[in-house]
Amino acid sequence: MFDAQAAVGPAHILKPPFGSDLLRELEAFVRVKGINLAWISGVGAVSRATICYYDQEKKDWIDLDLDQHLEVAGLWGNVSLLNGAPIVHIHIVLADEQGHCYGGHLGNNTLVFNLEILMTTLSGPTVVRKMDEQTGLTIWH
Ligand code: ZN
Repeated sequence: MFDAQAAVGPAHILKPPFGSDLLRELEAFVRVKGINLAWISGVGAVSRATICYYDQEKKDWIDLDLDQHLEVAGLWGNVSLLNGAPIVHIHIVLADEQGHCYGGHLGNNTLVFNLEILMTTLSGPTVVRKMDEQTGLTIWH
């Protein structure tokens, strides 16, 4: 099992701007701040979303575009390094007006309505993503 021991903190309490692209906003933030390792959680709402599902047989992504207003019932993710630069990886659960949920890997063009995010930085190890032949994904090594 992969195991890297890290020290916790400091934490950033974030509110991305209304209308911003959530993933791009968070990636710009970690690059400007030099954050290479972190854990992310959050709640709020988005005005539209793209979530992605990984087909494990085909080793390919399927995008699901949700052009509707949605609650962010839960958002969790992390920051680690890919090709020497920090990359933000988030999974999200989105609820519609009936409370029905969609979930998956967060894609680009998910637009912020309002979000309250906690990004807890971690220090110590370098956690790097590399292409993994078995899964076809860039995963921690
Ligand atoms: Zn993912």
